[in-house]
Amino acid sequence: MWQTLLPLTPRYTGFMSGVPHKTFYLETFGCQMNVHDSEKVVGTLIQEGYQQVQTVEQADLILYNTCSIRDKAEQKVFHRLADFKKLQAQGKKFGVLGCVAQQEGEKIFERAPHVSLVCGSASYTNLPQMLAQLEGAPMPSSDIQRLNSEVLTPAGNSRSRKSEAESLIRITGLDDRQTDKCFETEFTARTNPHRGYITIIEGCDKFCAYCVVPFTRGKERSRTSKSVLNEARQMADLGYTEIQLLGQNVNSYRDPAESKSFAELLAAIGEVPGIKRVRFMTSHPRDFGRDIVCAIDAVPTLCDHVHLPVQSGSTRVLDAMQRLYTRDQYLERITWMKSAQREISITTDVIVGFPGETEADFAETLDLLEQVGYDSVFSFKYSPRPNTPALSLEDAIPEAEKSRRLEALMAKQREIQIARYKRYIGNECEVMVEGHNEARGQWIGRTSHNKTLNFTAPDPAFPKVGSYVNVRVTGSFPNSLLGEIVV
Ligand code: SAM
Ligand code: SF4
Repeated sequence: MWQTLLPLTPRYTGFMSGVPHKTFYLETFGCQMNVHDSEKVVGTLIQEGYQQVQTVEQADLILYNTCSIRDKAEQKVFHRLADFKKLQAQGKKFGVLGCVAQQEGEKIFERAPHVSLVCGSASYTNLPQMLAQLEGAPMPSSDIQRLNSEVLTPAGNSRSRKSEAESLIRITGLDDRQTDKCFETEFTARTNPHRGYITIIEGCDKFCAYCVVPFTRGKERSRTSKSVLNEARQMADLGYTEIQLLGQNVNSYRDPAESKSFAELLAAIGEVPGIKRVRFMTSHPRDFGRDIVCAIDAVPTLCDHVHLPVQSGSTRVLDAMQRLYTRDQYLERITWMKSAQREISITTDVIVGFPGETEADFAETLDLLEQVGYDSVFSFKYSPRPNTPALSLEDAIPEAEKSRRLEALMAKQREIQIARYKRYIGNECEVMVEGHNEARGQWIGRTSHNKTLNFTAPDPAFPKVGSYVNVRVTGSFPNSLLGEIVV
């Protein structure tokens, strides 16, 4: 069930009253930023009179919100487009949104000629106009000429000339890297009625040697703290109790009105009446100040979890990655967090097999895992990406060696997590109830530390999803905890 931020408008209620509409299907790939962008795209489409459907077959318009962070993610969307290509004969239209759209641009039309819309994330504000064009667009004369020369098959069969003509409508919304646009809309269709995302900063100016994000998501630009706080208050009024602030580097936030630092914004959101939990993701070590730890100490609603990607434990590799911090500087930030009044759970991202990473460099990464004691690690094999400086580096690591290092890292982290999760046995934790697992007869909860805590409760009608309850931890696994509700 979607929840929009505004009361229903006449158009929206028209949709509710059963007037026939255009339908769309949207599949999202990639990170939380994409998941939240999709919530905004869905809200925008609903506002434009579209109805969301759950299968490609039911849809008039099929959209993919894509990720290009690694090659595998990028290939997925082309496989999907190939899988459903035949449906264009039924007049369905296809659109590619997000990072692959921005990265590949009009080349997508060559690789997947049944695609009609290619749109980067900063251009979503223009979606209503693009949709209008898509629905009734007179075809550009260049397309008509192309059709005249291409549509006839070798057998001279003018098969589906009309449907091919329609599908060859091509609408492109590509972003300028220097854009100042942030995709703000009041029509966000959030799927969860209790916790929701707010994007506070878009884009990235850091240009790590391996990463496509600065090319696909444009320059770093922050929303005003006033507009972020307004959105948080509106969400609280609608009954949301948990807010997660999002940004490629959420803590690089700079209020354009120069009124609040990131730590001050965090604290202000944590003080919005009705908000019980505030999370933020992802933090960049370079911009991680001690004031963030002080804010967590001072404001109890700020969750005691920080995701601080390190990428490598070797200063030499960090330098080659252009991360612009050393192992010691990273560890200094860990020390700040470890001296906080509440225990802060720390998680990270690691890339293995970056060009030139030696066995000794990799050993330093394994050692760093021990030294920090992460509660979770997202680990990836280095994937060469278009336009990035790392493409020209020598000493590529063979795929098999990358896989070996990834497995070794995951095995090491599993041992660390087994020990870390065990420490919670006997503790009492507050969880937000996220759901019920019928098969196991367990409730699913999430701690402020961002750990999954599955628990039993005596009465099956209790507790309610979205409520907060105390649970005593009775067991642990490498990725979750087990417990009983405290009544
Ligand atoms: N801005 C965050 C930071 O700098 O820590 C990271 C955001 S990025 C979207 C998420 C993660 O994808 C990165 O932390 C990195 O581990 C991984 N990643 C990015 N580019 C990659 C590449 N070319 N190959 C493998 N992993 C990559
Ligand atoms: Fe990519 Fe680096 Fe920017 Fe993170 S900081 S999004 S890894 S370029």
